[in-house]
Amino acid sequence: MEKNILIFGHKNPDTDSICSSLVKERLNKKLGKENCKAVRLGKVNKETKYVLDYLKLEEPELLESVEEGQEVILVDHNEFNQSVEGIDKAKILEVVDHHRIANFETAEPLYYTARPYGCTSTILFGEYKANGVEVSKEEAILMASAIMSDTLLLKSPTTTDFDKKALEELEKLAGIDIKEYGLEMLKAGTDLNDFTAKELISLDAKSLDKNGTKFVIAQVNTVSIPDVLKRQEELEKAMNEEIEGKGLELFVLAITDILNSNSEIIALGNKIDAVEKAFDKKLENNRAFLEGVVSRKKQLLPNIDKNI
Ligand code: MG
Ligand code: MG
Ligand code: MG
Repeated sequence: MEKNILIFGHKNPDTDSICSSLVKERLNKKLGKENCKAVRLGKVNKETKYVLDYLKLEEPELLESVEEGQEVILVDHNEFNQSVEGIDKAKILEVVDHHRIANFETAEPLYYTARPYGCTSTILFGEYKANGVEVSKEEAILMASAIMSDTLLLKSPTTTDFDKKALEELEKLAGIDIKEYGLEMLKAGTDLNDFTAKELISLDAKSLDKNGTKFVIAQVNTVSIPDVLKRQEELEKAMNEEIEGKGLELFVLAITDILNSNSEIIALGNKIDAVEKAFDKKLENNRAFLEGVVSRKKQLLPNIDKNI
């Protein structure tokens, strides 16, 4: 595996991280860069599994760590604490991402494509066009899946006109009713019953670091917030274990209603005041309901981060 340039998204991979890695591998190969390979940094979630099953694709291989000098391409992330073990010694050739740039540096020059779009795949779709590369039906569905996942069917405030336009064009290339498919995909990701509390809080967790203050914002999608809250006690126990085990100052779990576009958050740790200030709300029973909040990147993270 090491001879290849490895392409991967963040830890606790979401649909964008997996699909964009697969798409980037395909695009590079079509551009004559054969020696690259999409891999993943963690378990494929149920939403992503729906996509892979639909397309009859294998999961990318799991990558635990990289050796010094390993050539890599990062998609859907840049922060080292969300990346693979050993990333600081790897040779980062390229980044394609739609997040803030933080906790990132390289020793050598690189290609860095950052766009404040709703999804990495929207950027990749632009690369197909810029290079005059044809998009296969499979690639169209991979990119459309990533866009609908990251933007919650274009309803998240992270959605840009670029995402809308890309999805419209990808739907034609995919040749399926993309919104209908997308809703089924999102729903597949809300089946949380057979996860332990510990698994649930790490399915889509982002580790963050503000000048040495470590915190985590995790998110789960659901079609029923009360259903998830039935497990509040065990979720809190798991969150407290993470706080103690990893020396976190704050753990926020956002339970996001994908149909009504709201979130209930549970927040624990020494810095819960950062959350209360961020949303001008007192936590009750460690919880707060955040009307219209669905995006970690645009709503949760920036507001919490500036109050830490
Ligand atoms: Mg992501
Ligand atoms: Mg993304
Ligand atoms: Mg996400």
